[in-house]
Amino acid sequence: MQQRSKLVVGNWKMNGGLVFNRTLLAAIVAGIRESSERCEVGLCVPSPYLAQASAALDGSTVMLGAQDVSEYAQGAYTGEVSAAMLLDFGCRYAIVGHSERRTWFGDTDARVAAKADRAMHAGLTPIVCVGETLLEREQDRAEEIVSSQLDAVLDRIGVARLAHAVLAYEPVWAIGTGKTATPEQAQAMHAVIRAHVRQYDAKVASEVKILYGGSVKPSNAGSLFGCDDIDGGLIGGASLIAADFLGIVDGACRFAGAGSPV
Ligand code: PEP
Repeated sequence: MQQRSKLVVGNWKMNGGLVFNRTLLAAIVAGIRESSERCEVGLCVPSPYLAQASAALDGSTVMLGAQDVSEYAQGAYTGEVSAAMLLDFGCRYAIVGHSERRTWFGDTDARVAAKADRAMHAGLTPIVCVGETLLEREQDRAEEIVSSQLDAVLDRIGVARLAHAVLAYEPVWAIGTGKTATPEQAQAMHAVIRAHVRQYDAKVASEVKILYGGSVKPSNAGSLFGCDDIDGGLIGGASLIAADFLGIVDGACRFAGAGSPV
């Protein structure tokens, strides 16, 4: 019986600097070498540091990613970074639809879907973030919001290609707030997401990885990653501290091979 492998991806956001990164990358590479290889690990760094991170991760199993990607292929789009450029630096992943992009930079559902489409077309794996705000949860609209964010991507790329993407459930109220969703809350939404995809295609639903993001720490990683439908995590603040990030990776590795069967 095949199982979904676990994946832990760090999102540095707009943090770091050449000197800081050198120490952090070296510590993560050394720590991952010593830890189990049963789970996959990625780091999404700010674009100016892709070359530095790419060199530091050379020879390591840690995969490189970006925090966003342009919906356009190339041309007169000042400030944008294309999927082809990310591939030039050896990127495997690109986050799309992070709530900070949706909130502060106008990334609509349609634009997120276009970015996911463009990333996949170029050969990147998009990490498609979905999640509700606290108000939407309090209004009992969390499932509706997450489903509609997901549908925008499904409508654009089609369900077959979704198997080659990664989904991340990130409740907005849990991002950078220290307020983690309980394993029960997270598992419940992950099950909703998987059931939603199952309406389109059962095989894709059982194969697609769904990460949890929102104040994951070494102390709560194990209880979250032990849930059936949680296939790892997207880690913000804790990915800037090597010991914390490695502790979270350890939490995922303990459950590598767990989760519902594919
Ligand atoms: C994120 O930025 O994707 C995130 C989950 O942040 P944090 O872990 O800091 O809540």
